[in-house]
Amino acid sequence: MAESTQPGFVHKAALVYADELARFDYGDQHPFKPMRARNMLELCGRYGLLGGDGVVQIEPAAASPDLLALFHEPEYLDVLRRVSGGQFDLAMLARGIGTDDCPPLRGIWEFCLLAAGSTMRCAEVVLDGTARRAFNPVGGFHHAFRDHAEGFCYASDVGATIEELLRRGKRVAYVDIDAHHGNGVQDAFYKDDRVLKISLHESGATLYPFGGAETELGEGKGEGFNVNVPLAEKTDDEVYVEAFRGIVPPLLEAFGPEIVVAELGADTHLSDPLTHLRLTTNGYEAVVGDLCRLAPRLVAVGGGGYDVFRTARCWTLAWAAMAERTPQDEYAGLVGGMMFGAEMDGLADRPMPTRGEAKEKARDEARRVVEWHHAHTFPRLGARRP
Ligand SMILES: [Zn+2]
Repeated sequence: MAESTQPGFVHKAALVYADELARFDYGDQHPFKPMRARNMLELCGRYGLLGGDGVVQIEPAAASPDLLALFHEPEYLDVLRRVSGGQFDLAMLARGIGTDDCPPLRGIWEFCLLAAGSTMRCAEVVLDGTARRAFNPVGGFHHAFRDHAEGFCYASDVGATIEELLRRGKRVAYVDIDAHHGNGVQDAFYKDDRVLKISLHESGATLYPFGGAETELGEGKGEGFNVNVPLAEKTDDEVYVEAFRGIVPPLLEAFGPEIVVAELGADTHLSDPLTHLRLTTNGYEAVVGDLCRLAPRLVAVGGGGYDVFRTARCWTLAWAAMAERTPQDEYAGLVGGMMFGAEMDGLADRPMPTRGEAKEKARDEARRVVEWHHAHTFPRLGARRP
């Protein structure tokens, strides 16, 4: 596996950031707040993580509609374009648009093109040697399907980028640590052995999209190339990191991707209002650090996260890991309470392990799923148990 000192890259990490994406508004009542990306940018600035050697900030441009057409059906893209222009009819509900999760939003077409352009730009900069790792915080729309919108996701920036990478003959692994199962990506590449898909998520027994069982292994040529790790409610850092390390490093090593696309949703955090896992920034930071070391080239996207300020903190820590920098806060204790939540002192949470019966249940379930993959998935991919 590649080491962090791998030569051949100008920078360690590139931040691909468009303020226009952060300013896009899903509506006051909608939990998805793209503005978290600007909060993250401000935190990164405050912690000395922008500028200087080893990092670069890049302003992305909108993708061509051709990029989205690699992933989505033309009829669906046509609906998306019309919704964006202010048209709406009930037939669009069949395409997932007009629900509470995916309301008809003016400008959504342009938003999707810019988000996809940003993720594709991440892929370009890691391929051309500008940086080993690149991060688009307003990306990772993993619930968008080829023919419909779902779960706050209208167009799949990750799916379209993976399609383009496959078109160029690249070997791709997709690793999804968002609390929700990456159902749109799974569905699109379910029969495909050119991309290894790994999703760790809260079990479908308790959370949308209510699937993502370990037994969904892929089909046909893709059998064995779809790896789900469903986790019980109240799974904490310790259980999560153990499950991640039992699955992800050995599978990446066996598959040998040239590029890893990682969805770094921060909605696994214990404060997230939509989910029931119990991670802190510490568990999140540990697995993102692993991904940074394991991936020869890393395309990272933000994904979910509905506690706005904690998501910004998680992504700041993720960016620090990509940049191989230690956050330095010269204003420690002075402004944190005002800007980033009263309880904040530094970026990292105190450890908050789950205790008692809930912990045992979460641990037993995680170990059962990891063992299941060691028995069923690892032999198919020639992976060694850790
Ligand atoms: Zn999510």
